[in-house]
Amino acid sequence: MDFGFTPEQEMLRKTVREFAEKEIAPKIDWMDETGEVPMDIIEKMAKLGFMGVLVPKEYGGLGMGHIERMILLEEIGRVSPAMANTVQVHHLGTAPIVVFGTEEQKKKWLPPLAKGEKIATFAVTEPTGGSDVLGMQTTAKLEGNNYIINGRKCFITNTHIASVIGIAAKTGEGPKGLSAFIIESDTPGFKPGRKENKFGLRGCNTGELIFKNCKVSKENIIGKEGDGLKVALVSISNVGRPGITAGALGIVRACLEEAVKYSKQRVLYGKPISDLQAIQWHLADIYMDYEISKLLMYRAAWLRDKGERCDAENAMAKFWATEAAVRCAQKTITVFGAYGCMKELVPQRLLRDAWLFISGAGTSEIMRIIMARQALKMA
Ligand SMILES: Cc1cc2nc3c(=O)[nH]c(=O)nc-3n(C[C@H](O)[C@H](O)[C@H](O)COP(=O)(O)OP(=O)(O)OC[C@H]3O[C@@H](n4cnc5c(N)ncnc54)[C@H](O)[C@@H]3O)c2cc1C
Repeated sequence: MDFGFTPEQEMLRKTVREFAEKEIAPKIDWMDETGEVPMDIIEKMAKLGFMGVLVPKEYGGLGMGHIERMILLEEIGRVSPAMANTVQVHHLGTAPIVVFGTEEQKKKWLPPLAKGEKIATFAVTEPTGGSDVLGMQTTAKLEGNNYIINGRKCFITNTHIASVIGIAAKTGEGPKGLSAFIIESDTPGFKPGRKENKFGLRGCNTGELIFKNCKVSKENIIGKEGDGLKVALVSISNVGRPGITAGALGIVRACLEEAVKYSKQRVLYGKPISDLQAIQWHLADIYMDYEISKLLMYRAAWLRDKGERCDAENAMAKFWATEAAVRCAQKTITVFGAYGCMKELVPQRLLRDAWLFISGAGTSEIMRIIMARQALKMA
């Protein structure tokens, strides 16, 4: 077994860390205040290739693997979990084209997506409940050479900044009754709906997508009619879930650094509070959560890079890292005392951001269901 990163991967981590600290960190207060996405930062990340990390080189991407993507998102997430989520959902929206797209679809959409000239999203969730994928109501009816899409998606990331929108919609009934489509944002009959005002991940855009007799060419179907559930689940499991895990791992790392630094500076009874055993236990717990989440996440990415199926591993890493992010942010606030609750200090934001990662790409209950399926096969 080899748990190390290659020199190239370490270099990537260093580059992304420097970028995040220099370019993203100064924008965080503005993002938290306004809830807006700093598009100038997206443009800068695009120039460095961050938006096309998984896209093959022949289509203008960096052609890197899942481990590299996790490094990128962990380092962005350490500074801004909101920005990590914007980037990771762009990767999620790109993935169905990379994995299931035809050669024409790849040539048409991947180069601008890899270069970040266009932003992507992928929308499954509807008001009828994100966990119940087959309960969705959005329909796609074939009329001649076009599908007519009607329905509404909610709680979707990048709704107001994406121009390449992947969706799953009903073309029939049951598991084979879903199909996946790419819809461009200038298609008549499509408009973004409300922008959500979240308490966390502020500066990452979440909202609605509305389709009213939206006419989409047959050429925009991803895979075949009836492949929608497969396209959605494979993309969410292999790209969406790990993307959130990496953002959450970034939060846990930030908690570790914040809590350790503060505990060494805060003096009580004439000594830093890092000398108090009760504080050390908090630090030990955060450290442990960081190492466990990291091992789970990078192992799942390593399996994926080898082409192995790793749905349970991705679910376990997502469950652990996102729950750990909430736990560790609470402990960090505890270490900070009242200062931890103040808006101008980082810990309270980490808790707000961490909470939002719990339900994205499937809640903790759904992650447990996926793990239980695997557990039941083990004896
Ligand atoms: C920040 C953020 C970004 C998001 N981005 C996207 C995106 O880009 N694209 C997209 O499609 N969606 C996105 N989502 C939506 C997300 O996927 C859903 O929130 C999630 O799937 C849960 O759906 P729901 O919120 O409708 O909750 P529901 O499905 O209504 O669930 C409600 C509660 O019931 C529990 N529950 C449901 N089923 C079961 C079960 N079988 N057993 C036990 N408990 C159960 C859930 O765990 C939850 O606690 C995003 C969400 C957030 C918060």
